[in-house]
Amino acid sequence: MADLKTHQEKLNTYLERFKQNSVLNHINGENRPAISGETFKNHSPVDETEICTVAKSSKADIDAAANAAKEAFPAWRDMDGAARKKILHAIADGIVARAEEIALCECWDTGQAFRFMSKAALRGAENFRFFADRAPAARDGQTLPSSTLMNFTTRVPIGPVGVITPWNTPFMLSTWKIAPALAAGCTIVHKPAELSPVTAKILLEIAEDAGLPKGVWNLVNGFGEDAGKALTEHPDIKAIAFVGESKTGSMIMKQGADTLKRVHFELGGKNPVVVFADADLDRALDAAIFMIYSLNGERCTSSSRLLIEDSVADEFLAKLKERVGKIRIGNPLDPDTELGPLISKGHFDKVSSYFDIARDEGADITCGGERHGDTGYFVRPTLFTGADNQMKIAQEEIFGPVLTAIRFKNEEEALRIANDVQYGLTGYVWTNDLTRALRFTNQLEAGMIWVNSENVRHLPTPFGGVKASGIGRDGGDWSFEFYMEQKHVGLATGMHKIPQLGA
Ligand code: NAD
Repeated sequence: MADLKTHQEKLNTYLERFKQNSVLNHINGENRPAISGETFKNHSPVDETEICTVAKSSKADIDAAANAAKEAFPAWRDMDGAARKKILHAIADGIVARAEEIALCECWDTGQAFRFMSKAALRGAENFRFFADRAPAARDGQTLPSSTLMNFTTRVPIGPVGVITPWNTPFMLSTWKIAPALAAGCTIVHKPAELSPVTAKILLEIAEDAGLPKGVWNLVNGFGEDAGKALTEHPDIKAIAFVGESKTGSMIMKQGADTLKRVHFELGGKNPVVVFADADLDRALDAAIFMIYSLNGERCTSSSRLLIEDSVADEFLAKLKERVGKIRIGNPLDPDTELGPLISKGHFDKVSSYFDIARDEGADITCGGERHGDTGYFVRPTLFTGADNQMKIAQEEIFGPVLTAIRFKNEEEALRIANDVQYGLTGYVWTNDLTRALRFTNQLEAGMIWVNSENVRHLPTPFGGVKASGIGRDGGDWSFEFYMEQKHVGLATGMHKIPQLGA
């Protein structure tokens, strides 16, 4: 396997062109600066150096992109599903061919460790393949015959859509939204997060090299309050697929109200991992550690609350402390690194503020709770113990490598604590009692639950949250439900009597 030095050299080659030229918008098949000419600077969270300048777009750029998506829509909608399938598979091939470049750029742009980003890049290719294979059947409907009418349904793409993505695993998350939209026959305006613009540009290059017609997928860089807002308000954009914070989702809903936007939201979480004394505690420990300290804890599905049964808590927490202390922090380009820096100074400040909050609230900082090094936005993996569920550290999404451990006495108390948050994205239940597992999952308020497992995502399954964690589902056919409309046609048999007014 390549080492840090080799990765650094390769990265420098890949980034050279972004250093020479800004990351531009891509509208109707052309690279374009923002119409205003404005740009902003993008820095690496690893060493705080500048990576590139980026087009800072506004409403005028969104208007141009939405217009291109509208113009391109009829031809893309009417293209045979098998032809769309071919293009989507070619995009997947292109991702595989450039996977190392994508992974290294993503590491440098976001601070995520190479060991995870190399898998995430390939997962992006799988997303395209999964939806490519479903493209020919995307329009399938039902026949609902009666003696008077031969009813049938088909699905039609909703139109040009807006895709707004966050900075955490941005490449993979973008493919997850964009692949089904393209397979369904929608055209796209994509606004990636301002903090991680690099791999969105690479992805679009791959798509156009794969033969995607111009205007089908348009990329507009910039900030939420101008470019993002304009996209959600645009009358030609029929739906918004959004991944980000719950409070941003609430704003988007208001912004989209005048144009009656269809929305799909994947939002924040404060997900419990509930460990009962009868569980396989070694596997539970591995999973609990993986689900909060991988991907820097900057992961919506992370298990940020550990609910541990009292009778095994001392032993479990002692082992947890030992393992957390050994997590390898460092340059995310290093294949050995397990934990990289947080995305930005702002996010570093937010996560660090919870170290003081934990002290003020009377929790114990068993591990971490401080900065690592003096360059880049690194924090040490952190474990809060002695916490109760009313504390801010148990209620608020910290979105970093920070775990809050809470003890419980019995199943009833575990369930009450697990559900006592505004969020409901994922839950992880560890028990060898099958009846209890079923009873608990039945009552746990979460969109996705795993029993005796970390988060293992199978693409045909529905993905999404309840409560403040989201609206709607994607994955499998659920993605087509969002990007498509049902159309009903009734063909008369001529056997029914039509009411005759004035006869
Ligand atoms: P964010 O809400 O700050 O930003 C997400 C995107 O929305 C960015 O592209 C941003 O520019 C844009 N945006 C901001 N304000 C906007 C506005 N008024 N109108 C339109 N667009 C606007 O989120 P973030 O900090 O980038 O991402 C982290 C959050 O995302 C966390 O809360 C995390 O839990 C959540 N997330 C959820 C899932 C999920 O599947 N549920 C997945 C990944 C991330």
